[in-house]
Amino acid sequence: MPLKVIEKRDVEPLIRHLMERFQVVGIKKKDGKNTYGVIESPAELRLDSCATITSPKKYFFPQRETLLQFAVDGSWEPQAVVEAQPRIIFGMRPCDIAATWMLDMAFSEVNADANYLEKRKRALIIGVDCKEPCDEYCFCKSMGTLEVETGYDLFFTAADDTYIVRTGTPEGEALLGEWGKAREALYEDRVKLRAVQREKDERFKEALEFDVEELPRFLEDSYRSLLWDVLGEKCLSCGSCNLVCPTCYCFNVLDEVKLNLSEGERYRVWDSCQLEGFAKVATGENFRERRGDRVRHRFFRKGKYMKEMFGRFGCVGCGRCTRACLVHINPIEVYNQLKGGE
Ligand code: SF4
Ligand code: SF4
Repeated sequence: MPLKVIEKRDVEPLIRHLMERFQVVGIKKKDGKNTYGVIESPAELRLDSCATITSPKKYFFPQRETLLQFAVDGSWEPQAVVEAQPRIIFGMRPCDIAATWMLDMAFSEVNADANYLEKRKRALIIGVDCKEPCDEYCFCKSMGTLEVETGYDLFFTAADDTYIVRTGTPEGEALLGEWGKAREALYEDRVKLRAVQREKDERFKEALEFDVEELPRFLEDSYRSLLWDVLGEKCLSCGSCNLVCPTCYCFNVLDEVKLNLSEGERYRVWDSCQLEGFAKVATGENFRERRGDRVRHRFFRKGKYMKEMFGRFGCVGCGRCTRACLVHINPIEVYNQLKGGE
């Protein structure tokens, strides 16, 4: 796919142009914090910021989503509700692009999920390279998500007064073509891109004290480790780690009858494997009643089960769960302790 170049001063007109046809979502400030939100004016978009509290997954998999509407007395056939609109996520970071790949797998591999897939189909992803680590909690380099080769339509890397733009799909290429202000990259631009990538790589440090490919084995060997009891003692079972995680996709489905008592809706809401009732079944048994078992399950899912299912780790190293955790349960420390207990 071709490499293009855009002057930094042309980004604002580009966003304005995109806003005519798409809802543009990106990182902006809200209550003093970085968050992914709908961009109302190009000046709001913060392409240099990272470390958002929540991830962009809410635009493909909303926290609460109506799935169908029904008549209580069955007088009309239940109607499926699938809502999607043309949308561009401008400035998605490499770790979130990797996480979106994971969601794509989860929502298409076994049971194709129309609600997720329609939103995904109508969305374009414009990635932006990180310059620096978000903070001491991110460990994307160790998880192999510092760089992404696929999963985006366009990908911007800042270099001096320009953005060097990798095109990932024909849709991304068409978007730039129809705008008409991007030029073909020259040899010097390619050299510059490689230099920027090299400098970036040097700024990010490895956080894990071992090769991440060994993680599934360390986890397997730790199944009966006391570490899980220690973490279970600390954990508050609040579920915040799941809510902010870009790769968590568990949900609960509920039916609700409206106040008129004749119509209702079926909807889904995000769920969390750290909540006590998550693994409780109809007959009253709870398969993960102990907090330590639930914490262990979360780490096994991220570092072993998803890798076995999809071929990639379920953790992209964004650090959001650590930032959100009131008792400072940090995957970097947990994984390194597993290695220590080898
Ligand atoms: S487990 Fe934590 S660090 Fe890993 S992807 Fe989820 S939120 Fe990010
Ligand atoms: S955010 Fe921390 S305290 Fe809350 S469930 Fe997750 S690990 Fe436990």
